Amino acid sequence: MRLLERILGAVLQTFRLDTVKRRILALAVLATLIPTGTTGWLLYIQNKTALTGKIHEELRSASINIAREFDLWLKERVYELRVFSGSYELSENVEKALRGGSTRAQVLRRSQDYLKSVQNKFSDYEDLFVLDTTGAVIVASAKQTAPLSLPHGWQKQARLDQPILTGARWDGSRGRTVMTVAVPLKTANGRFLGALATTINFGSMEAVLRQWAQGQTRHLYIVKPDGTRMLSSLLAPEPVLTTKLPEAATRTFFAGEAGELQRMTYDNLEVLAVMQRVPRLEWGVVAEKNYEDAYRALLDIRNVALMSAAWLLLGVGLVAYLLSMTIIGPLTRLTEGAAKVAGGDLSVAIPTDPPREIGRLATMFNTMVTYLREAQEELTSVNLALNERNQALETLSSTDVLTGLHNRRHMRDALNAEVARHQRNGRSFSIMMVDVDHFKKYNDTYGHPEGDVLLKKVGEILKSSLRTNDFAARYGGEEFLILLPDQDEKGAVEVGERIRQRIAVETEDPANKRQAVTVSIGVATFPEAGRTASVLLGNADAALYKAKNSGRNRVLTAGS
Ligand code: GH3
Ligand code: MG
Ligand code: MG
Repeated sequence: MRLLERILGAVLQTFRLDTVKRRILALAVLATLIPTGTTGWLLYIQNKTALTGKIHEELRSASINIAREFDLWLKERVYELRVFSGSYELSENVEKALRGGSTRAQVLRRSQDYLKSVQNKFSDYEDLFVLDTTGAVIVASAKQTAPLSLPHGWQKQARLDQPILTGARWDGSRGRTVMTVAVPLKTANGRFLGALATTINFGSMEAVLRQWAQGQTRHLYIVKPDGTRMLSSLLAPEPVLTTKLPEAATRTFFAGEAGELQRMTYDNLEVLAVMQRVPRLEWGVVAEKNYEDAYRALLDIRNVALMSAAWLLLGVGLVAYLLSMTIIGPLTRLTEGAAKVAGGDLSVAIPTDPPREIGRLATMFNTMVTYLREAQEELTSVNLALNERNQALETLSSTDVLTGLHNRRHMRDALNAEVARHQRNGRSFSIMMVDVDHFKKYNDTYGHPEGDVLLKKVGEILKSSLRTNDFAARYGGEEFLILLPDQDEKGAVEVGERIRQRIAVETEDPANKRQAVTVSIGVATFPEAGRTASVLLGNADAALYKAKNSGRNRVLTAGS
């Protein structure tokens, strides 16, 4: 489990998914994209397949129908032509004309009238000709006609009673596609005279193509195996009909299975196309559709799908973001709380309303802080009690714990004893009240423990500066009282001065950037400055007060 977690962690790290917020967002994005992407893709494929099927069907039926109609139309033309060639009037007159003689011009005119009347009645015919067995035109419906040539060996085909279909081409002067159709011309008893030929136009077939193409984004055309296009549903068909279909496209059409859906690009256009063969002719009917138009509906579907996926992503992303906030907010508060506790602040309590796991964590955290707080309070009260006990002990004993000097109580006793001694032997003595200057500031600057160190040091200096009979005590916090037996005021001031100087010199510590600590001293001598211990003490205190007021770091007497 641990290993799996580690591997996953490394993978997530490589994708920079190293925060809870990013992981939740990534999850949301994946959870949205994978299902919508898959269903979207499936739908797209389904739609595309369906649409392709529909397009194929549409193109196929168009091409099949056109091919059929074209074949039918061609059959009709051939049939009509056969009817005309079989007309007794025509064959008789032609036979006469071929025979020559005086009536030749007359019978030829009659033949021409016949041809003209046919041509006028049938709009599919441009010209009508009668050719003799050598292929030379004997008579034509119009005086000026385009030269006409039938393929080599046409006579053989004609004798077999087969129609000759040839010369399909774009006729620039007429602006339409034409073709030559010829049928054999025979006498009533079957003698082969030549052929009745016509230049037919594809006007009516063109109309059919256009009709099929109407209202559709579809192009219908007829193509020959050499790539020449014969007919087109386009309104301005000339550019298409005068350029060949690219070889590759032609090959695809004619080599491929008829009716197959082909996707190809020619004439600078990507198309879907289906070709159907025209029976009897080697031609093909192609129905094609612009690829882009064909799938436009699909593009619309795709765009709508993409848009809705984007919206979905936005919505889900927002929800995920809010969700991550509800997780990260409590976590952050927890971390901040822990930092506060680490910094010593035990007054922290964090909300426990977030989701279950983190909520439980928060509750545990709060409990832990409460325990810590209680423990600390207990410790403080124990400390306090201990301090009180210590103080009590100290007052009971005679020495000051910190400095090792006598304590205040002991000093009181000593002072009283000295006053009593004077009454016995009349000897004088002095007291000195020593107070550290600006000690509060020292404490504030270096801390209370350092203050203690200094007090100890002052105590040592005092001890080592005094005679064995002298008596030094710590009188208050940073106040010392010194009893100097057999010392008059002058001598006491000298001792005080010496002490003051020593302290100033020995507390200076340039290495640690500490300035010298100074003391102020008030001196009072018995009995001049007071005949009782308390008066004497009051005067020493007054002298000290004076020393402080006149600038500190000095020794003053009660009378000065
Ligand atoms: P001044 O020059 O007027 O005497 O100023 P001061 O700051 O020395 O005098 P003040 O009476 O204002 O402050 C005395 C300070 O001594 C206050 C107290 O915190 C500190 N103090 C008292 N007892 C002890 C102790 O045992 N150890 C330490 N480190 N400081 C103490
Ligand atoms: Mg002081
Ligand atoms: Mg003081």
